[in-house]
Amino acid sequence: MSDAVENLNYIAGAWVGAASGATFEDRNPADPRDLIGLFPDSGAADVATAVAAVKAAWPAWAAASPEVRADALFKAADIMARRADAIAAELTREEGKTITEARNEARRIAANFRLYAGEALRLNGETYPSEAGQLVLSVRQPVGVVAVITPWNFPLSMAARKIAPALAAGNGVVFKPSEITPLMGQRLVEVLLEAGIPAGLIALVQGRGPSVGRAITAEPGIDALTFTGSYAVGKAIQASLSTDTRCQLEMGGKNATIVLADADLAKAAAVIERGAFGLTGQACTGTSRVLVARPLYEALVEKLAATAKAIKVGPGTADGVKMGPLATEAQYEKVLAYIEIAKAEGGRIVAGGESLRATDPALAEGYFVSPAVIADLPADSRLLREEIFGPVVAIRAIDTLDEAIAIADDTEYGLAVSLVTNDLSAVLRFTRETRHGIVKVNSPTSGVALNAPFGGFKHSSNQTAKEQGGATVMDFYSRIKSIYLGA
Ligand code: NAD
Repeated sequence: MSDAVENLNYIAGAWVGAASGATFEDRNPADPRDLIGLFPDSGAADVATAVAAVKAAWPAWAAASPEVRADALFKAADIMARRADAIAAELTREEGKTITEARNEARRIAANFRLYAGEALRLNGETYPSEAGQLVLSVRQPVGVVAVITPWNFPLSMAARKIAPALAAGNGVVFKPSEITPLMGQRLVEVLLEAGIPAGLIALVQGRGPSVGRAITAEPGIDALTFTGSYAVGKAIQASLSTDTRCQLEMGGKNATIVLADADLAKAAAVIERGAFGLTGQACTGTSRVLVARPLYEALVEKLAATAKAIKVGPGTADGVKMGPLATEAQYEKVLAYIEIAKAEGGRIVAGGESLRATDPALAEGYFVSPAVIADLPADSRLLREEIFGPVVAIRAIDTLDEAIAIADDTEYGLAVSLVTNDLSAVLRFTRETRHGIVKVNSPTSGVALNAPFGGFKHSSNQTAKEQGGATVMDFYSRIKSIYLGA
């Protein structure tokens, strides 16, 4: 018998099950025998009701003063700050990241809400020089119903980065969290409701991508859709939307750290460790390739192997654990499959890449893999091109900065890249020439500032999108009207 909690959607101001009554399970990746809860396996009927309710609710929110909108977001920040550690414990249970990583994510949500409370207050239009007897100005208005579709790897922050600016600009929101982390979606909505976001203005529709996600893209009542997830799904979403629906897609990455010959080895290894193995390698900005100056190649391979072997892997709540499990069985199988591909390609596995299930009874059921360092792969290796989304880093020697910049850019993606050096002229050339949206120097590819724009080149973002993050994203969530006043 299961005593699993049965959770609900939030639609039209009420907590309700899916119209069909169907549910799906949410389980702990460190031990999938641990059933976290059941969630509504929603469908097109639930989406239609949600969209209609949000459509009816947003004009009143748009007409409210900016102070009212800001106030609700400031209150949400306070509630989130109070609840962050409790929610972080649930995040570790649901997604697997370590409790330290989960706390970092949960605590940042408060700052994110505050940032967009501020943006609600300063969402300005402009006036333009014009002929006498006429006043030309622009005003910003909300877009209307914003659909938010998010992935599981940062289930709180990816959602908050979209929902907070959408609400700040006066929109209503239909939110579909990943089916792998539905509880985090629910927690975020609970915080917003408690903070005074009007009933009906936000709808939470739980369920799977091919059913709920696809139903959202087919809904004519959606005015804008913001998505973070894989390129394959993003591309399908864009193709299915009508041309008058705004669409923002943030997708994958195949991020590289370049290490030049003058770099300090210990510093380079620390930068790569955090980028490659933090969050179990499941970050869109995670480091998956290292391009190192040939004279440092063997020394860095050795250093990274030692670094990876010293990482304690286990349940995210256990003492001393630095790396949690992969989030799903599919992720676990995918990472192990890439290790087999690396072997078949002639790569040298210098550390990790093994299932840890047989090594410790505490790891027997979960999706645990040791962090992998792979050297000597051929230039056309799949591991140097495809997004793996796990704790696997491939190292390759380079002879010049030009070659490194070219190899770093030679993938379908263009999200994050970093350079380790003290050579200022190399830094200036690198930052100018690389085709990536997030360009870092002497720091890991992963980890970004909330108030800075976030977006990628090529398949990492759709190129009509306004970057996420900071104030730039307010352009996506508001519509500009130019007004000509004559006397
Ligand atoms: P995913 O594309 O499988 O799913 C993302 C979301 O889309 C989920 O909510 C899912 O249910 C939904 N979805 C799936 N099929 C759909 C469909 N046909 N129509 C509409 N919605 C659908 O991605 P994921 O596995 O959850 O996340 C991992 C991916 O996300 C990686 O590629 C990673 O790089 C990317 N990511 C990117 C960023 C960024 O900011 N660029 C941040 C985090 C993750």
